[in-house]
Amino acid sequence: MTQQTASAPSMFAKVDTFAAFVCDWLIDLVFPPRCGNCGRVDHRFCDACHDQLISLPLETNSIIVDSLDDICATGKQVGILEAAVKSFKFHDALALCDSLTARLVASLSQQDWPIDVIVPVPLHADRELERGYNQSNLLGQQLARAINAPCQPAWLARIRGTSQQARLAASERRDNVAGAFEASADVEGKSVLLIDDVVTTGSTLSECALALRARDARAVYGIVVSKT
Ligand SMILES: [Zn+2]
Repeated sequence: MTQQTASAPSMFAKVDTFAAFVCDWLIDLVFPPRCGNCGRVDHRFCDACHDQLISLPLETNSIIVDSLDDICATGKQVGILEAAVKSFKFHDALALCDSLTARLVASLSQQDWPIDVIVPVPLHADRELERGYNQSNLLGQQLARAINAPCQPAWLARIRGTSQQARLAASERRDNVAGAFEASADVEGKSVLLIDDVVTTGSTLSECALALRARDARAVYGIVVSKT
């Protein structure tokens, strides 16, 4: 009896997995994945472009963002780095997480920031559900493992929906995210490293920093893959 009840769900799970596999296979057949950089029909980011990304040198520029103690980026949002960030963010090219994190680790090693905790810039819950993941959280978790620091996505929440920053003019971005975040009381006295994929005007990171400081974070730094 026990065996029967145990085997029934596992059989359904197998049928489900098989159905999902067939579904993915059919979608790939009709709409084959294309490399986000060179367009070749292959994976979301082909091996040749991946090799190019790995050998792309860091390009550190000084960036100033209000309310942050300091911030670094691994390069500019152009060429293969832009393609990689977009593929990672919008097209499920999750295999890029390792290579992008390697850049973050290298960039961070050039700073002498005391980091107690990594906090990813949160997506609104609806958007995370739609996309299936928060790209900043994936990078934050991976970076945390690499530098042996904790990553606490729950310490910063988006408390209201906002329009996508990319669709707004620079002057509208600050209003769009004003008061959109709330930090946990756990950040008190901590030196926080905020992580996001891209910085443009810095409005989002700046608002996140204000929310963390409102809870008495000791310092707030920022790290991003690329700057526009
Ligand atoms: Zn390619």
